[in-house]
Amino acid sequence: MQKKSSLVQRDQAVVWHPFTQMKTAEAPIAIAKGKGALLWDEDGKEYIDAIASWWMNLHGHSHPNFAAALKQQAEQLEHVIFANFTHEPAVQIAEKVLSKLPDNQSRFFFSDNGSTAVEVGLKMCFQYWHNIGNPKTKIIAFEGAYHGDTFGAMSVGGRSAFSAPFAPYLFDVLFVEPPLPGQEAESLAAFEQLLDQHQGEIAGFIFEPLVQGSAGMRIYEAAALDPFLAHCKSEDILIIADEVMVGFGRTGSWWASDFLAHDPDIFCLSKGLTGGTMALGATTCSDRIFQAFWSDDKYKTLFHGHSCTGNPLACAVALASFELTNSEKTWEQIRWIEQQHKAFGQQIIGHPKVTNMRQKGVVWAFDLQTPDSTSYFNNIRDEIWQFFIQRGLLLRPLGNTVYVLPPYCITEEQMGKVHEGILALLDSAVGG
Ligand SMILES: *Cc1c(COP(=O)(O)O)cnc(C)c1O
Repeated sequence: MQKKSSLVQRDQAVVWHPFTQMKTAEAPIAIAKGKGALLWDEDGKEYIDAIASWWMNLHGHSHPNFAAALKQQAEQLEHVIFANFTHEPAVQIAEKVLSKLPDNQSRFFFSDNGSTAVEVGLKMCFQYWHNIGNPKTKIIAFEGAYHGDTFGAMSVGGRSAFSAPFAPYLFDVLFVEPPLPGQEAESLAAFEQLLDQHQGEIAGFIFEPLVQGSAGMRIYEAAALDPFLAHCKSEDILIIADEVMVGFGRTGSWWASDFLAHDPDIFCLSKGLTGGTMALGATTCSDRIFQAFWSDDKYKTLFHGHSCTGNPLACAVALASFELTNSEKTWEQIRWIEQQHKAFGQQIIGHPKVTNMRQKGVVWAFDLQTPDSTSYFNNIRDEIWQFFIQRGLLLRPLGNTVYVLPPYCITEEQMGKVHEGILALLDSAVGG
């Protein structure tokens, strides 16, 4: 047992950490510095951030461009109310992100994080139908989905132990299994059955395109989702793509939805929007949706807003991140990471402890074969976590799923260390 620093002791006296059983959790690691894909704790121990700090970070920690953008903006305008006011960084980031989204996307609504981006998407969807005088009350979502931790976002998330205490307060959602490899036909048939049972009642369909993150990096093919979207188009069901995790290049294209045959009506964005540096969310929509709110009737207003909406500092950093994401160098890195994942995957695919290997873009995962049943609450998760942390690797498993989702700036040497760590795990006693 390591001696706790005074910072950790002070933390433990006052701070309540996310998704953490405070009684049984290990003491938090006090991080003093970050640079590129590396983090250093207060004792100078180095960690490779191979999960991009909860899928947030695109271009590395403490990037000088972000620091410069932040400083310049802070000296110019730190914040202003966004109702009745606007400013350059907000307009610019809206213009730039919309220019990369499918052509049907025409409006950009700011919020603060991924959960609020989803809340806004749901409200746009329900109120669209309300405003055009054809209210619809049902939403379809995927089992195992994760869309955030606020009540609306939780409601459309797969029901689990995480949401159990709030079950009575979550609105009714129609769930189907996602079209994972091997269950495409069943999943589509279940979807079609819901459409039959609830004709004319379904307002929208929300999903994480191609990768269900929290569910354990579950990956499905675009071609498996396309028939769902074709039904939505023909039956006038609004399509809401939650690209909070997969947006900004993670799947090897700007958006996971780029691989789909039908354009979503609404996009939810956050995490990579600021390169994982600042809290910012955005919900974009098509002109058709916007037109349902465009009215002389005040009751058709989208009644939603947060105090920090369109924060200039966050927008300035988002612009700095956009420029980097839009650079050729970044896309070379993305291709290189994809190749690295593939090659390493080939190397370990025959290992008896490796099952269910999968990859989409820079997201790569496998399940560690364990004798007992697999669940998030399984001890194996904590063992894997400890194993990697001791080796200076930030690889935070989801249950027995080990995944790598690095910042795009990760170096060859750092990637090599991640691979060495995984090989060492496979050779260790972890997982029996
Ligand atoms: C992380 C995540 C969210 C929630 O974003 P927060 O910023 O944590 O509120 C929503 N949807 C998906 C797909 C996510 O991965």
